Amino acid sequence: MTIFKKIIDHEIPADIVYEDDLCLAFRDINPQAPVHVLVIPKKEITAVDALTETDKDLVGHIFLVLQKLAKELGLSDGFRVVTNNGLAAGQTVPHLHFHLLGGRAMGWPPG
Ligand code: AMP
Repeated sequence: MTIFKKIIDHEIPADIVYEDDLCLAFRDINPQAPVHVLVIPKKEITAVDALTETDKDLVGHIFLVLQKLAKELGLSDGFRVVTNNGLAAGQTVPHLHFHLLGGRAMGWPPG
């Protein structure tokens, strides 16, 4: 069981900013920007490379939640959505998650 599953089950605390039947959003414990929220599906999916056809609506829903949170959290100047897939990309928690980052200028390319 991952730490994110424990957050979904409310077994460990998190600063939750949004929750519905399909997903959960909470502030990253080690923020990399003034706004750094993670949006995760409640379904246990390890990463992008584990997605299947049955997850299409779920992923679409998560992106609309990302859009809504970006508005609510005041990121009208711009924001970044990041998902790391696998060790080489820096994924540390094997539960699919989308980083919503904003509130500062972002460099490109990412590291
Ligand atoms: P990644 O490196 O893409 O797998 O991202 C995992 C993220 O989860 C990191 O940015 C961590 O800071 C964050 N994180 C790990 N544990 C927690 C936690 N208990 N609550 C909130 N964020 C966490």
